[in-house]
Amino acid sequence: MNHDTNNCIFCKIINQEIPAQKIYEDEDFIAFNDIKPHMPVHFLIVPKKHIAMLADCQRDDNSHIMLLGKMMTLAPVIASQQGCKDGFKVMINNGAGAGQEVFHLHLHVMGNK
Ligand code: AMP
Ligand code: ZN
Repeated sequence: MNHDTNNCIFCKIINQEIPAQKIYEDEDFIAFNDIKPHMPVHFLIVPKKHIAMLADCQRDDNSHIMLLGKMMTLAPVIASQQGCKDGFKVMINNGAGAGQEVFHLHLHVMGNK
């Protein structure tokens, strides 16, 4: 298990040190397809800032509130671009007990074409 920014696989994708099927990028986020998709459309929205997990976001930190709000409101935009016509679901695994494997905050977005 890895909580270290320097050895974080999603930071490496963000820094283009390892490849990914990138489908979206802006100043604050990238989105790329999950390598083990659970549904025909399955991508991850990842903040460029390294935050290990949702529970590290603070309710009284406006930068966290902005980040989470932007991440959520981005989901329907990219889902639509990816061809989700009948809806989509979003999921965040928080902590190893919930199945979190990559300790860099990310939003799963899954749907059918
Ligand atoms: P989680 O269990 O929420 O931490 O999910 C991590 C997700 O990242 C899993 O669904 C993996 O399939 C996915 N994943 C891991 N490495 C990569 C990678 N290099 N490119 C794309 N997706 C990845
Ligand atoms: Zn990271």
